[in-house]
Amino acid sequence: MPKLGSHMSIAGGYYKAVEAAAVAGCDCVQLFTKNSNQWAAKPITPQDAEAFAGALHQHRVSDPISHASYLINLASPNPDLREKSCGALATELHRAGQLGIRWVIFHPGAFTESTAEEGLDKIAAAMDGILIDTAECGAGLLLENTAGQGTNLGWNFAQLAAILDQLGHRERVGVCFDTCHAFAAGYDLSQPAGYDEMWSEFDEQVGLDRLQAIHLNDSKKGLGSRVDRHEHIGLGAIGLEGFRRLLNDSRLDRVPMYLETEKGHNEAGEDWDVVNLRTLRDLVG
Ligand SMILES: [Zn+2]
Ligand SMILES: [Zn+2]
Repeated sequence: MPKLGSHMSIAGGYYKAVEAAAVAGCDCVQLFTKNSNQWAAKPITPQDAEAFAGALHQHRVSDPISHASYLINLASPNPDLREKSCGALATELHRAGQLGIRWVIFHPGAFTESTAEEGLDKIAAAMDGILIDTAECGAGLLLENTAGQGTNLGWNFAQLAAILDQLGHRERVGVCFDTCHAFAAGYDLSQPAGYDEMWSEFDEQVGLDRLQAIHLNDSKKGLGSRVDRHEHIGLGAIGLEGFRRLLNDSRLDRVPMYLETEKGHNEAGEDWDVVNLRTLRDLVG
């Protein structure tokens, strides 16, 4: 069975995300290492890192992973914003390194008033620069596939491949696959044939060996809608059978999987993370 976890809040300390993950029954955890809607960040102290490592060990939570700020846009044609984004993503890598986190997931970027091709070139160039600047930090970058809203890049695997193929520094780079984003982008993983075609294309274009994390989200919006709205597992347009195939796919066994579904409680008063994890685990086997 793959490791299953969820995105958790770091309010009150990084160790709090681990504690919340343990309470919900997670094997692994995703977090922001800073406020995801701000550029600035408080430095991480050795005490913060120690408490985080201690909590992971104590609660047997593994594969902590970081999601970068939503403000970062490596594809921006605006040089100031691009430079700020490069600095911010380098900071994200350093912060992950300080916390012993191996990967930082980020969205490739939006080309806004330029073109897709220019945007893809800019992302690859920016990543190379960042990877050189952070050579000592121990953490690497995961490109996440997107739903393709507006001018967001990386919604199809050919675009992810176009970035990866241009990189001079590929050792610390991988991909995070988001189920909701893929479905909204037009990959029909809800059906057996669509599911198989999708992974064949992924393997051909990107390579399954590049896959280091999976985001498990059902989709509120339809196939190919290009709209990114996460839904609880089994309650959206992907449905339980799509997730059953994914969870029982032996090629993906080694890849940790994280929920990014809405927090809160269902009508029976149960925590949604507990409900979604139970739904997923019931699909295995
Ligand atoms: Zn994301
Ligand atoms: Zn995601």
